[in-house]
Amino acid sequence: MEHCLFCRIAAGTLPTELIYQDEQVIGFRDLHPQAPVHCLFIPRQHITTLNDLTPETDVIMRHLFRGARQIAVQEGIAEDGYRTVINCNVSGGQSVYHLHLHLLGGRSLHWPPG
Ligand code: AMP
Repeated sequence: MEHCLFCRIAAGTLPTELIYQDEQVIGFRDLHPQAPVHCLFIPRQHITTLNDLTPETDVIMRHLFRGARQIAVQEGIAEDGYRTVINCNVSGGQSVYHLHLHLLGGRSLHWPPG
C-alpha cells in the first residue's frame, strides 16, 4: 500500500507528529482542521472503508474509539462534548481511502452535518 497516504503515515515514511499510538492505531492532527480540535485515528493495518470490516477487525475499532476518547480528555473537550465521524465512500464524503475516525471538538457542532 505504498501509494496510500495514511499507510505512509503509519509506516513513518510521511512525517507527522503523532498524538496517540498503541499496537493497533495511531492518531495525529488533521491537516485542514474543521474545528479547534480535529484529530484523525487510523489503523496501522490498511482497511479501505467501513464496508471492509470483518470480525477480525473488531479489535481495531475498539482501539480507534479508545484513542479518540483518550485524546478528547487530554485536549479538554470531553466534558463539553465532541463528535466522532467515519465517512464512507463518495456519498459519505470519504476522500482518503484508508479507514479513519475523525475526532472534532472545541466548538459547538451543528446537526445535521452538510
Ligand atoms: P475524509 O474526507 O473523511 O476521507 O477525511 C480525510 C481527512 O484527511 C481530511 O480531513 C484531510 O484534511 C485529512 N488529511 C489529508 N492528508 C492529510 C495529512 N497528510 N495529514 C493529516 N491529515 C490529512
